[in-house]
Amino acid sequence: MGLIATSTATTKSNGHGEGRIKSYAPATGEVLGDVPIMTADEVRAAVGRARRAQESWAALPIEERCDRVRRYAQALIERQDEVADLLSRETGKPMMEALLHEVAPSVAVAEYFCKRGPEILAPREVPLGLMKHRRAFLHYVPRGVVGVITPWNYPLYMPLRDIGMAFIAGNAVVLKPSEVTPLIALKAKEVWDQAGLPADLFQVVTGGGATGGALIDAGIQMCIFTGGVATGRRVASACGERLIPCVMELGGKAPLIVCADADVERAARAAVFGGFSNGGQVCISVERVYAHRDVADQLTQRMTELTKELKVGDPQKGAVDVGAIIFPKQIDVAEAHIQDAVQKGATVLAGGKRITGQGQFFEPTLLGDCTHDMTVMNEEIFGPVVPIMRVDSDEEALRYANQINLGLNAYVFSKDRDYAHRLAERVQAGSVLVNDVLINGGMPEAPFGGVKDSGFGRVLGEDSLKELCQVKHINIDRFATSNDPLWFPYTDKGLALARKATKLVFGGGGLLKKLSQLF
Ligand code: NAD
Repeated sequence: MGLIATSTATTKSNGHGEGRIKSYAPATGEVLGDVPIMTADEVRAAVGRARRAQESWAALPIEERCDRVRRYAQALIERQDEVADLLSRETGKPMMEALLHEVAPSVAVAEYFCKRGPEILAPREVPLGLMKHRRAFLHYVPRGVVGVITPWNYPLYMPLRDIGMAFIAGNAVVLKPSEVTPLIALKAKEVWDQAGLPADLFQVVTGGGATGGALIDAGIQMCIFTGGVATGRRVASACGERLIPCVMELGGKAPLIVCADADVERAARAAVFGGFSNGGQVCISVERVYAHRDVADQLTQRMTELTKELKVGDPQKGAVDVGAIIFPKQIDVAEAHIQDAVQKGATVLAGGKRITGQGQFFEPTLLGDCTHDMTVMNEEIFGPVVPIMRVDSDEEALRYANQINLGLNAYVFSKDRDYAHRLAERVQAGSVLVNDVLINGGMPEAPFGGVKDSGFGRVLGEDSLKELCQVKHINIDRFATSNDPLWFPYTDKGLALARKATKLVFGGGGLLKKLSQLF
């Protein structure tokens, strides 16, 4: 039983404001529950309640807000088994991934910013170069209500990553989770409410794309969108129309470059983990491997062995490496890529087809002999398919890596870390990991986001906490005499003085240079 078929069957006539959406377990087809498709009026009311709650929340000292967010993080950890279990059932992902790739990083991000938030958002004085008679202060003021719109592949971590930070910054949040995985979002909200935290500060509005569109139109002050490129364009333009600042976390096509001197065993294991973790339904999945000809055969052989060893199945029945395909359309996408690649000369080294029977499963698939005329090397897969292409040099790999219009994550494997660092500097991507994969997705200290069509803006990292605020500049004149030489009236004498002064201050070797050397 597929999610596409079932969700269209339940969204009734216009898909917005009528009917309910059912959530299915992709591993079994079992109905787990259903949620309402909320109307634009309901979404607007939720934003209104969030705004009122935000006013008193923003008035709390930041330390107090951090204490409360920490309480939420602790409630999540106390209920980790129940939360991870629902998450695993609603997505079909292994329990290890539910726990370590979603619950744990959600808590880690919250704890990190609870600790660092007060220091990052502390008001500060900016030293002024020329205008020594003035003082400039920066204050980080919450934006108001942040709309968070998320996809189905990490339906707990993606929202909680952004929500915890938004709260610490003093905002309220209205979350529009994916219609494919709404129940885990409601569980996150239930944990918030039951921890005794202000219910209206965190709202969840359920529904499909139209509900997301209604959220952007409901008076929010910022939007953090995570999803596909095509939807991202629509969301960014709707935000632009309303002058709402937005962060766009969109698709990826991460290249993994294996240099001639790489540790082949580590590269092979990393490529298999990075390609098949979460069934390849990761925006930073290893989506194309460029193997230097000196190591290509050895790498390919090892990756084939490792891929064949992967255990696939329903995580509820015991430990598996690869769970279900969350969104059934991805099975069609995988099949289309494989068919195109094989027609153009690729070899199926492992897997290659959907697994028939109960649930939505696809064999972890490794493709060898790939070339850049194949869709699998150029377009997002978002499923358990990893193509390998042999290259003659690292420069050739770099050229291919950079010729795609997506640039979220990239990976470089070499034993020479300095060389790999220099190569990483030339890869067009938001993040490049040397001798590792995926891990930065849950690294609160470092900014995460893409270049080119992978989006703009960043989540995580201290700058993104500041981005959740308006920076307000307060400037104070220390002396404030009854008039100012820069004000009216303008006179000829004043102009002559101004001419001399600009030369004195800005001319080569002038006062400005001397002042900047002094301060
Ligand atoms: P999607 O773009 O179809 O949907 C994402 C969200 O947007 C859903 O909640 C959906 O209901 C909502 N939406 C749809 N139309 C909308 C509209 N017009 N206005 C407002 N909201 C609307 O994406 P998906 O299929 O759920 O997720 C898969 C995609 O997400 C992949 O392309 C993947 O690369 C990307 N992704 C990116 C990141 C990242 O951090 N860059 C992380 C995870 C997933």
